[in-house]
Amino acid sequence: MLKSESLNNVLENKIVSYENALQIYQDAKFNPSELFSTAQNLREKFKGKTVTFSKKAFINLINLCKDTCTYCTYKAEPGEEKLSLMSKQEVKQILSLAKKYRCVEALFVTGERPEQKYQEAKDWLKKNGFKSTAEYLVHASEWALEAGLFPHTNAGNLTFDEMKELQKTNVSMGLMLENVSERLSQKGMPHYLAASKRPKARLEVLENSGKLKIPMTTGLLVGIGETPEEIISSILAIKKLHEKYGNIQEIILQNFQPKPDTKMSDFPSAEENYFKIIVSISRIIMPEMNIQIPPNLSPKSYQSFLSVGISDWGGVSPLTPDYVNPEFSWPEIKKIEENSKNAGFDLKCRFPIYPEFFSFISKELRDKMSVIENEEGLVKEEYWR
Ligand code: SF4
Repeated sequence: MLKSESLNNVLENKIVSYENALQIYQDAKFNPSELFSTAQNLREKFKGKTVTFSKKAFINLINLCKDTCTYCTYKAEPGEEKLSLMSKQEVKQILSLAKKYRCVEALFVTGERPEQKYQEAKDWLKKNGFKSTAEYLVHASEWALEAGLFPHTNAGNLTFDEMKELQKTNVSMGLMLENVSERLSQKGMPHYLAASKRPKARLEVLENSGKLKIPMTTGLLVGIGETPEEIISSILAIKKLHEKYGNIQEIILQNFQPKPDTKMSDFPSAEENYFKIIVSISRIIMPEMNIQIPPNLSPKSYQSFLSVGISDWGGVSPLTPDYVNPEFSWPEIKKIEENSKNAGFDLKCRFPIYPEFFSFISKELRDKMSVIENEEGLVKEEYWR
C-alpha cells in the first residue's frame, strides 16, 4: 500500500484523471520515490526486462524551414555551412552505406515546407525533378526500400494526401506534438514564429494519421517553459488520440537542451528530476505505451531512466550525426547495451514499427521485413550486431 491515494488508484488499474495526475506531480516534487517505483512496476508488467532501439541512418534531406522555433539549431539559412540540400545521388549513396552498416531504419527529416519560403528550396526541387518536398520524400522512401532499409519520415505537418502517399512505403511516421499549450505560441515564446507548431495544426496532422491508420511516433519537448498543467494536458491529449484511433506507437520524451546561437541559449536545460517525473507520469497515464528518451541528451545518466518507466532508446545511428542535436553524439550501441545490461535490461533492435502495429501495414512491407525479422517481431541479432 502506497501513501499516495492517487498512486494506489493507478495500481488498481483506475484511470488517471487530469486532477489525479496533477496531484501526483505535486506530491512527487517533494518525494518522487513512490511515483518512480509505480512507473517502474508498470514498465516491468507491460514491457518486461527488454529495452529496444532502432538502428538507423539519419537522412537530412533538406534543413531549410519556413518556420522559426527559438531553440532550434537544425534549421539552416542559405549560405550556412550546415545547409543540407541532398541530391538524389547523395541520398542513394547514404542508403547504400547504411545498408553496409546493417542499419534497419532510414529516417528522413526535413524542415517545414521549405519551398514555401526559399527560392533555394524551389531550385533544389526543380533540379532533382520534383514539385514539392513531399514528392521528393515519396521517391526517397522508395529508394530506401529498394536498398533494404525501412523508411520513417518526420517532415513536419504533412497533409492527409501526402501522408496517404508516404504510407505506401513508410512503415511508420513521426510528428512531435511538443505541447498543447497555446501560450507557447504567444509573442516572446518558443513557437511564436512557427505556425506549424500551433497545437491545433499538430493535433490535426495526428488525427489524420489516425484516420489513415499510420503507426505514429509522437512526443513532447520537455523543459521549454511549459507549466506542469500544460505538460499533463499534453500527455492526456496524446492518450485521447490513441484511444480514438489506436495508432500512437510510441511517445518520445525529449529533454530540452539549450543550443549556442539560439534565442534560448541562456535558458536552463530540463532539470533531471522534473524530466523523470514527467517520464513516470507518462508511464502511469499510458501504462502500455512504448516510451522513449534519447540517450544522447542525457549522456551521463540515461540508463537511470530505465527505473522510471522508459522502454526504448529510439533511433541510434552508427554512421550519421543527430542533426537536430549535433553537439550530442549518440553513444555507441555497444556502450548502450552494456549500460542497459548493468541496469538489468536486455537491449534488442526493433524495426521503426513496433510489433503491436504490424497489422497496420501492407503485406508487401511485411514481406520485406521478414527477411531480417525474428520470432518476436524484432530484428534478428545476426543482422544488427
Ligand atoms: S524545430 Fe522544426 S519547425 Fe521549428 S525551426 Fe526547427 S526545423 Fe523548423
